[in-house]
Amino acid sequence: MSYVDEVLEKVKQKNAAEPEFIQAVSEVLESIRVVIEADEDEYRRTAFLERLTEPERQIKFRVPWVDDKGQVQVNTGYRIQFNSAIGPYKGGLRFHPSVYQGIIKFLGFEQVFKNSLTGLPIGGGKGGSDFDPKGKSDNEVMRFCQSFMTELYKYIGKDEDVPAGDIGVGGREIGYLYGQYKRITNLYEGVLTGKGLTFGGSLARTEATGYGLLYLTEELLKINGIELAGKTVCVSGAGNVAIYAIQKAEQLGAKVVTCSDSTGWIYDPDGIDVPTLQEVKEVKRARLTEYQTTRPNAEYHEGKGVWTIKCDVALPCATQNELGIEDAKTLVANGCLAVCEGANMPTTLEATKYLQDNKVIFAPGKAANAGGVATSALEMSQNSERLSWTFEEVDAKLKNIMVNITHNIDAAAKKYGMEGNYVAGANIAGFEKVAQAMKAQGIV
Ligand code: NDP
Repeated sequence: MSYVDEVLEKVKQKNAAEPEFIQAVSEVLESIRVVIEADEDEYRRTAFLERLTEPERQIKFRVPWVDDKGQVQVNTGYRIQFNSAIGPYKGGLRFHPSVYQGIIKFLGFEQVFKNSLTGLPIGGGKGGSDFDPKGKSDNEVMRFCQSFMTELYKYIGKDEDVPAGDIGVGGREIGYLYGQYKRITNLYEGVLTGKGLTFGGSLARTEATGYGLLYLTEELLKINGIELAGKTVCVSGAGNVAIYAIQKAEQLGAKVVTCSDSTGWIYDPDGIDVPTLQEVKEVKRARLTEYQTTRPNAEYHEGKGVWTIKCDVALPCATQNELGIEDAKTLVANGCLAVCEGANMPTTLEATKYLQDNKVIFAPGKAANAGGVATSALEMSQNSERLSWTFEEVDAKLKNIMVNITHNIDAAAKKYGMEGNYVAGANIAGFEKVAQAMKAQGIV
């Protein structure tokens, strides 16, 4: 049996209860098979893939807090420090009821290669909790965040591990987490990114993942001789990534006609109105049904359905495994040219293969949504310098990073004879740098 297959087998046995982690590892190992097989004996002798797929450290902790009625609630907190070969651990915190160890592990594993692709010195990690901020008062969210940080602070630091936001963790949560970190440690340091602008945050961090997604999408289409301007785009999600993806797509001359949340979706034939969406989601924190009240031409539908709308470009920006094989078939039948992932692993393995087999340009999340973590690293740089760059400076650096990623994944795919396979290109390009660093640092 080849070394890659041996390790895949072990990973499946060892992590049988964590299907998302197995899915992420399978995708990466399949992509780098060609690199490993070129020097298989040495990789096997040094148990390289076993080390790559085993987190350096996994922290799991109790988070007790008191709700507004005086009732004590208990959640579980996680921080998985996956790989620090190229820099301090970096990756978001997710607060969502679906969070368990397997979700955090898959996200941490993906983060290792994504962070490598940015070209910046950051390792991979991820964390979070099964706490659901939805429907909680500000005070409840604050008490939860304070309790969460009271344990987490022991394991993080500006040169050690620097968490950020993710699903359910936005500016409000980062503020409460930072306040508690500072209170316990007496340190005013860049230990979290996504901070408010008055306490060390970076301009353009809020927009970065969505904007970065569009910079990469535009460049990738250009490489393939296609112009983004004038195209119809379907977006899923209505959170941080989705909102700024829609805004940038519209600025670049495309028309975005859909968005969605966890209960339903919107089709707006006139193009999604970003200020209305921001009012509903960022200000009122309401359901998408509210969007329709000021946009009479828009349709609201319960459940899932964004991918049934005919589009040239699809940008899944909600959550993992939200675009399955039937969605992929519909997109292909409707003439979709490109799918670029704003979320982490939103497309199932089967759907990805179907899209690629049908010549749809496919950009995996670890490349396409790397703008968020890249700008987080720029926030770390500004914190270290104790300086703040202008919006234009950060945005220009972000664009440059995304354009570089696009060309790097294209070149890596070509180098290994897989032109146009950007999943392979991203995994190989991300892997090569991490692998070199791990080899140089010995068996650790
Ligand atoms: P948000 O919490 O801001 O938004 C998430 C959106 O997806 C919301 O509209 C939410 O609906 C919807 N959603 C969440 N879970 C589900 C679900 N199980 N089924 C259907 N819809 C769901 O998160 P972000 O925008 O920050 O993150 C979105 C994705 O992008 C995630 O995969 C995240 O890991 C990834 N990502 C985020 C980065 C960032 O900088 N924020 C960076 C890189 C990747 P509702 O409004 O009802 O909650």
